[in-house]
Amino acid sequence: MKAFFDDRQWEHDPKHFMANGALLPNPEQPERIARLHAGAKAAGCTFETPPDAGMGQIAAVHTPQYLTFLQNIYTRWQRIEGAGKEVIPNIHPANRTDGYPKSAIGQAGYHQADTACPIASGTWKAAYWSAQSAIAGADAVLEGDRAAYALARPPGHHAFGDLAGGFCFLNNSAIAAERLRTAGHRAAILDVDVHHGNGTQGIFYDRADVLTVSIHADPARFYPFFWGHAQERGAGPGLGYNLNLPLARGTGDQAYLAQLDTALERITAFGTTALVVALGLDAHEEDPFQGLAVTTRGFARIASAIAAQNLPTLYVQEGGYLSDALGPNLTSFLTGALGTA
Ligand code: ZN
Repeated sequence: MKAFFDDRQWEHDPKHFMANGALLPNPEQPERIARLHAGAKAAGCTFETPPDAGMGQIAAVHTPQYLTFLQNIYTRWQRIEGAGKEVIPNIHPANRTDGYPKSAIGQAGYHQADTACPIASGTWKAAYWSAQSAIAGADAVLEGDRAAYALARPPGHHAFGDLAGGFCFLNNSAIAAERLRTAGHRAAILDVDVHHGNGTQGIFYDRADVLTVSIHADPARFYPFFWGHAQERGAGPGLGYNLNLPLARGTGDQAYLAQLDTALERITAFGTTALVVALGLDAHEEDPFQGLAVTTRGFARIASAIAAQNLPTLYVQEGGYLSDALGPNLTSFLTGALGTA
């Protein structure tokens, strides 16, 4: 299986985020790249550097205002006297439709949903190349590869059209799905990250042309809290084209696989011709976020069930945080996908 990654993705090196009122080390560390790269290689993936497909496909999913903000905010932030080294908002407007502020601080509040998406000098470049890796993966599928893997880091599924959040800036899975759709596919996104893919849901919520399905820990007591509930089914023409399958905290392999069957039935009923898997590995029992309890072997079974759909499939890396199991979990998943587990 071809895999895609660009060295510029290392340049996002976030230091902090706030959790429970405490300033903590940011879990979305560049070290994840080394673990995931090794895990993919152990599964037999061969890495390629993505070509530069430019801004077009990114701008198909994100607003011009947001993209301008992401590219310029770090420089502007440095001009604020006494500002911290990372762009972290200190205002979170309840209603974002009232107006668009001119100030860097106001715009940070407008475009950053939480404190877990700090922007520093290398953030834009890394996010841009993470998206290019996903686009290159989509192109490999369009060119006839049955499966491809994008080591998309920083991840993307919490990013809305104009809003960063939860370690995410550009929604790589959405960008890839939109590329597949515009090339003539009926594209679906299956999000197996432990956290609900709220940005992906938001991007396609009122559309019927891309199906979004997410299996995740119940947001009643888990990030992203405000999205991911079963009753969120889409709006307007998109009603019925968003499926959320929340699981109780601590759910293990068997119950997860049963929920996966429901997800795959919906993907079949949609008439899907190309699938994007938003591949978070943080549903693992040893992941620091401790949402679900999928085993390393369980990831191979999940991947095997997805691969049995026999759809051209792009696997886009999402979450999965530092533990000794991170690399082996990716190996397990990708060997399950390849049928070599
Ligand atoms: Zn996650």
